[in-house]
Amino acid sequence: MTTDMPDIVTRFAPSPTGFLHIGGARTALYNWLFARANGGKFLLRIEDTDKERSTQEAIDAIVAGMKWMGLEWDGEAVSQAAQVVRHQEVANALLASGNAYNCYATQEELGRLRDEARTNGTKFRGDIWREKQDQAPEGQPYTVRMKMPRGGATTIADKVQGDVTVQNDELDDMILLRADGTPTYMLAVIVDDHDMGVTHIIRGDDHLNNAFRQIQVYKAMDWAIPVYAHIPLIHGPDGKKLSKRHGALGVEAYEEMGFLPEAMRNYLLRLGWSHGDDEIISTEQAIKWFNLENIGKGPSRFDFDKVDNLNGHYLRELNPAVLLPYLQSDLENLVGHTLTAVEKQRLIKAIPSLAERAKRIPDLLEGSSLFCNTRPLQLSDKAAKQLAGDILPVLANVADGFETVSPWEADTLKSFMMSFAEENELKPGKLMQPIRAALTGGKQSGDLAATLEILGREETVARLRDQAAA
Ligand code: GLU
Repeated sequence: MTTDMPDIVTRFAPSPTGFLHIGGARTALYNWLFARANGGKFLLRIEDTDKERSTQEAIDAIVAGMKWMGLEWDGEAVSQAAQVVRHQEVANALLASGNAYNCYATQEELGRLRDEARTNGTKFRGDIWREKQDQAPEGQPYTVRMKMPRGGATTIADKVQGDVTVQNDELDDMILLRADGTPTYMLAVIVDDHDMGVTHIIRGDDHLNNAFRQIQVYKAMDWAIPVYAHIPLIHGPDGKKLSKRHGALGVEAYEEMGFLPEAMRNYLLRLGWSHGDDEIISTEQAIKWFNLENIGKGPSRFDFDKVDNLNGHYLRELNPAVLLPYLQSDLENLVGHTLTAVEKQRLIKAIPSLAERAKRIPDLLEGSSLFCNTRPLQLSDKAAKQLAGDILPVLANVADGFETVSPWEADTLKSFMMSFAEENELKPGKLMQPIRAALTGGKQSGDLAATLEILGREETVARLRDQAAA
């Protein structure tokens, strides 16, 4: 724990009450990028003080989501709940310096005052005990409240929102310690950010109002105030608050739908940050360019079509060997066995053309499966019809011919099939169709000669013979 201001330190501070949703993932990404862009540190703090709403399951989902997104944090994740004693220590220091005081008001009293303020159109500041500590009742429970400055104004030079000013009289004397002595979130977040040496707080603009009150604690403790950047929230394509229908899902849902972390990082980066008109920005590039100045001021709109397009781009862009692990388990489920080394090699060759029209990982599955099906292949009804009658002896001859074609490359294979058709007085299509049926079982497939090249001589001949002999 350090109190001086080192280089840049950012943090992501999720409350573990649910999965890592898309807005949180973007906040985490910006903090991660800003730290990485500046050679700083990116920390993770789990804000688990709300015992009733925090769950281990949510912590696991957040950690898994961060890992899937590729947002590795520095050091161990910090548990906010584990710092309670330290939070209390700061509350006591604030009491000792006269910046905080005990409040003996009951819930009923506070409720009544709040209602009165609403009726009168005045600000409820919760400060009834502020000036009468000498009247403290013996043995009555109390909370500890922050003594907010009165008069004057507080300005935040927010990196995204610009200068934002609030009159100090608007600030309520927020509770620091509850009657049972536990710290509030408002206290905990400040103490932890300070103790973790956080220099830049990048978070959703739903926290902007909190910042004005949080700053008063920094001032009272004589701590360096961090730089703030409050990012506008994500809205749906219709401009309304992001709902499940719009894509307000956990990142694991995006993983299940077949999106790549590379595409999600690019998409979430552009959803709120810009670099000229660039749409395709690799993570490597983003680390070079990312800054707080280019975060947009307006709310961004989530657009599934754009995620799909970017994902299609990364399916084509990624090295097939890097892409393969993303489809491996689904593919293994589909074909019913663990992929062999030979099959993996075939897939690495096949992926570039399979990816040409694909948007999501599942779009690659059917095309991939024909490179790993176990012989003899199961035929679709259509393929079965194409593999009947007079064509079968012809296929046996084609198989013989394939034994000697050299080199085993798409071009030579194609010329071989063309001349074979001519010699046997068959239209090329009449020959290609059953060959394709025998090799794919009727599955969606690309260029036939390219498919043969990837399958290899041995497998091609064997699949043909399976049908010719059937
Ligand atoms: N735990 C807070 C939340 O999940 C974030 C607090 C902060 O970033 O300051 O909304």
